[in-house]
Amino acid sequence: MSQSQTYDDNGLDLNWRSDALDLGLDYGMQTIAVRAGQHRTDEGEHSEAIFTTSSYVYASASDAAAHFNGTKTGNVYSRHTNPSVRTFERRLAALENGERAVATASGMGAILTMCLAYLKAGDHLLAANQLFGSSIGLFNNYMTKFGVEVSYVDCTDNEAWARAVQSNTKVIYCESPSNPLAQICDIGYLSQLCQANDILLVVDNCFATPALQRPLDLGADVVIHSATKYLDGQGRVLGGALVGSDQLMQQAFTVVRSGGISMSPFNAWVFTKGLETLKLRMQAHCANANKVAAFLVSHPNVSKVHFSGLSDHPAHELAKHQHHMSDGYGAIMGFEVQSGSNRDATAAAWHIIDATKMISITNNLGDAKTTITHPATTTHFRLTPEARAEAGVNDSLIRLSVGLEDVEDIIDDLARGLDSL
Ligand SMILES: *Cc1c(COP(=O)(O)O)cnc(C)c1O
Repeated sequence: MSQSQTYDDNGLDLNWRSDALDLGLDYGMQTIAVRAGQHRTDEGEHSEAIFTTSSYVYASASDAAAHFNGTKTGNVYSRHTNPSVRTFERRLAALENGERAVATASGMGAILTMCLAYLKAGDHLLAANQLFGSSIGLFNNYMTKFGVEVSYVDCTDNEAWARAVQSNTKVIYCESPSNPLAQICDIGYLSQLCQANDILLVVDNCFATPALQRPLDLGADVVIHSATKYLDGQGRVLGGALVGSDQLMQQAFTVVRSGGISMSPFNAWVFTKGLETLKLRMQAHCANANKVAAFLVSHPNVSKVHFSGLSDHPAHELAKHQHHMSDGYGAIMGFEVQSGSNRDATAAAWHIIDATKMISITNNLGDAKTTITHPATTTHFRLTPEARAEAGVNDSLIRLSVGLEDVEDIIDDLARGLDSL
């Protein structure tokens, strides 16, 4: 990556390059997570400052004019740029090994930005059938309204991906691991398919995070984040981001600036601080998840566990290859419960959920607190039954986001309902 940097009058790095770590040296990922992208003011503050300002002042009328006519670069308005947001963007870009990141108001804001930046009427968006529910809603209800053709394929079937490519396919979109069944897409294969057909490969890296997986290194063009999840990690604020090349990010940036999908400076600060502990938290999340998965597999009332960390999972080796953290398979899993003699599938799943005392019943995930959801009646409820079936969401499925509590307590809480089914 280029080392070129330009600075404005305030000493702000305007190139926003992820490789613009202050000393220009090669640092390890954890050093980057703690230090990259900081803009220290003349006050000498040690921790990153929060710039809660909507606008910026100019030295003179001609200085203002220069900012608008493009002869001078610098902050104009926080819908466009903000130092706190930029710190988060630079740190995340460095962690994902991308040239630049663009922050957005939420994960869905990042996905909408992706659509508006890279698709137009007449184009085809080819997406995985396993996706976050709102992503499917956005594609089906809104992108089609603007003339974008949308279709879905089994995200684990490489041949199905290749067969589904059309002459107007402009974007391939997937999550790996996916929501809610934690399926694994072959990112390297998809990248080759995209290169051969002049298609952008966009990967939602929300479940893995750069602590486990860097899709750009595997050949993706754009990474999407719901920062709301693990990047914060404590369920406090909403945010999202796109990461990729300067050129692709410039296209995304102009959408965010014009459309007002910008991230708040306070939220950016929360995410910046979250990145500092991301790897440590993910190690602990994954270690707990591996133990919970082993418990679920051994329970007689669990009929199926969807988790790539299990050695007999069809994508176990692929996950191992794509994830650079050893024994790191993420901490989201789905499991299906036996209906029992006098309960239907939904009632059985609800019984397990209602029997928990500590685990939070919430649709959020990627939190220090373990969360449990019944996707068929919550996150995927708005989908048509056909779309739900295509996403693999049946009534007996429970989604678990394994948190950072003592793992024995998480297992005990699940055992209560499972033992009494
Ligand atoms: C939550 C989530 C989103 C959407 O993010 P928001 O911040 O809630 O808008 C997108 N993709 C995945 C995989 C998610 O889990």
